Amino acid sequence: MSASSQDIAGSRPQGTIVAGRPMPDFKRIEVEPLTGACGCEIRGVDVSKPLDEATLAEVMLAFEHFLIIVFRDQKLTCEQHKAFSRYFGELTELPQAPTYDGHSDMQEVRREADEPSSVVPSFEHFHTDSPFLERPPSCIVMRALDVPRYGGDTAFSSTYLAYEDLSEGLQKVLEGLRIVYSGKDIWAKNASLAKDKQLRLRESHNFSEEQLENIHPAVRRHPRTGRKSLYVTRAYFKRFVGWSEEESRALLDYLQTLPHRLQYQCRVKWRPDTLIVWDNRFLLHRGIHDFQRERRHLVRTTVIGERPI
Ligand code: MN
Repeated sequence: MSASSQDIAGSRPQGTIVAGRPMPDFKRIEVEPLTGACGCEIRGVDVSKPLDEATLAEVMLAFEHFLIIVFRDQKLTCEQHKAFSRYFGELTELPQAPTYDGHSDMQEVRREADEPSSVVPSFEHFHTDSPFLERPPSCIVMRALDVPRYGGDTAFSSTYLAYEDLSEGLQKVLEGLRIVYSGKDIWAKNASLAKDKQLRLRESHNFSEEQLENIHPAVRRHPRTGRKSLYVTRAYFKRFVGWSEEESRALLDYLQTLPHRLQYQCRVKWRPDTLIVWDNRFLLHRGIHDFQRERRHLVRTTVIGERPI
């Protein structure tokens, strides 16, 4: 080999980097990344049936790497939806989210065609679901029943990438911080809003007041890989432990801008029978209410996670 062709070979990238890490090899499933930041579409899997061990291992590998996995054309009964969800862990009820069709361990996200887009104001921000619980959800398994023809996507933003881009100085400050998250005033706050701005909340639940408030680290680690992420979000945030509300708000305001950076994001266009699993620990998400006069109806299960470390 000549010196010049060696130079070219030497400068050739070794493998693909996507979602901040080398892309794993997949043999059983077809994996198409959605962006360079996070998310992938998986083909060649029918989730209505039990998965064989090798296929399941690759689905889990894709999930750990991309944080969002998207399957198209998955027609499921509620029982099949739950059976697939249990591969990711134990299902949990939520105190605030409306349940679906009499299943206490399924929730629905629904906006009717005649409802205004202002009906979900607090979730117009990027957020993580239910961080006030002691063991917040590790992931959400969501399926589309009815979706607008155009619009109504869900957007995601990687908090691994947000953390990794911070200066060492701010990383150090955040490493030492803990946050009070509380869901105690969800119902009171909602009742004080104008009728057309109120969220559709669950009417009763068996959670105690104490279970609706917890303290979690601002920098959260993946329990297996140790990879760090920024676990700070406006929804349910009260304050940094040891900081005043005013000081807390100032830092929170800056941190809440980070998920808007396009280079951390992907968004998923729903079609009927699209099924998504997203990680609720290392991602923020938000629905995009850019549609009018059309119905959007999604059903989901919620998988309980570890206590954040
Ligand atoms: Mn949400």
